[in-house]
Amino acid sequence: MQPPQLSPEDRARALAKAAASRKRRAEVKAQIKSGEYSLIRVFEISKSDEAVAKMRVFELLESISGVGKVRARSVMERLNISPTRRIQGLGAKQLPALLLEFASPTLIERGKLLVLSGPGGVGKSTVAKELRKEANFYVSISATTRIPRHNEHEGVDYFFISDSEFEARKAAGDFLEWAEFAGAKYATPKSQVEDALAKGKNVLLEIDIAGAEQVRKVSTEAILVFLEPPSWEELVTRLEARGTDSAERRAHRLELAQEELAHAPNFDHRITNHSVTQVLSVLVSLAS
Ligand code: 5GP
Repeated sequence: MQPPQLSPEDRARALAKAAASRKRRAEVKAQIKSGEYSLIRVFEISKSDEAVAKMRVFELLESISGVGKVRARSVMERLNISPTRRIQGLGAKQLPALLLEFASPTLIERGKLLVLSGPGGVGKSTVAKELRKEANFYVSISATTRIPRHNEHEGVDYFFISDSEFEARKAAGDFLEWAEFAGAKYATPKSQVEDALAKGKNVLLEIDIAGAEQVRKVSTEAILVFLEPPSWEELVTRLEARGTDSAERRAHRLELAQEELAHAPNFDHRITNHSVTQVLSVLVSLAS
């Protein structure tokens, strides 16, 4: 493609316009930062001000006092807003979702943080999957270095990341807790949990025991729940039936499960997994 033929005057005019737009955006960002402008005000202004309409959503959000890059990125990811999206390109549902996200936190009662743990194979992930259907619960999506199983999806079951990304994010303080389990690393992304709690959602972390014990140390609000199998035999049967794991991994899990059961007394509540419905109703009542 040929670049347009611009006269020196045209070029000077274009440069001046770009500089004026940058200046205007910097002003708006400063007003957002100081609290003088609310998000809704900026969206209103963008309808008649081209420079503001062309501002990147990310720049706008990170300017809000107390938000910053990490939270801005995580909120945009969760609302499916592309990192390069400009205000004028926001979808009809994305705009109200952003307003709700950044509504004054003082008006919203903070959600409860529930940590569901227990031996591998006890049925934690089935409970977590069902709880995702509850409107007032956010089930945290962990990051892991494990290879996805054939029935798992990126961003739904886990964020599947490389070992180097895991280590970099751990060093950056992105994780609320992390643990190694059967040769893979798992972690809870801090910002997603904090965002949801601040919005008044109850949060469930479905994590292993070492992770739950870490949460206990860093959070005074966490309610720790230990899910127990109806019997040891039942747990063995469940682990043996897991076709998605190799024989070696299943044997290792049994060994671990034995050690894990001994941690139950360190938890605030113990629930026996007789039925998913019953476990769900206990969890919902603990959060209310
Ligand atoms: P799986 O590989 O079967 O999905 O999970 C293995 C174990 O890792 C399970 O006990 C599960 O609860 C735990 N797990 C999943 N996500 C996390 C996490 O973010 N942190 C910790 N500590 N454990 C996790």
